[in-house]
Amino acid sequence: MSRPTAPLAAHEVDPHAEDIDPSVSCSACDAVCCRLTVVLMPEDRIPAHLTARTEQGLEVMARDEEGWCVAVDSKRMCCSIYEQRPAICRKFAMGSPYCRDERANYRERMLRGIPLTMY
Ligand code: SF4
Ligand code: SF4
Repeated sequence: MSRPTAPLAAHEVDPHAEDIDPSVSCSACDAVCCRLTVVLMPEDRIPAHLTARTEQGLEVMARDEEGWCVAVDSKRMCCSIYEQRPAICRKFAMGSPYCRDERANYRERMLRGIPLTMY
């Protein structure tokens, strides 16, 4: 799958999350968080073909050769399993400190021409 060039709207604002920056929007983001390792929880119900197991034995969302979560729908520019997305994705609040950190890291790497690595 090619890397999404348009923003995803895969995440919701968590009104209870602390320190939300309301100026941050998934609709103006390269879905940075959909390149992060998503560890699955026992309660997650993800189709097996979308999952993988790490060398350490953790069940995670599988990623394509460019590092994007395989559940990213690049045509519709959204999470293809939004209603059943993993718990960790539900907790990743748009505009939260963690979201902003990831966006800042991504921007810096792009500006400096550092290849994105899977992590
Ligand atoms: S990194 Fe933040 S703004 Fe970007 S898609 Fe994820 S939650 Fe939305
Ligand atoms: S499951 Fe959906 S929200 Fe979670 S990383 Fe994959 S595409 Fe993004």
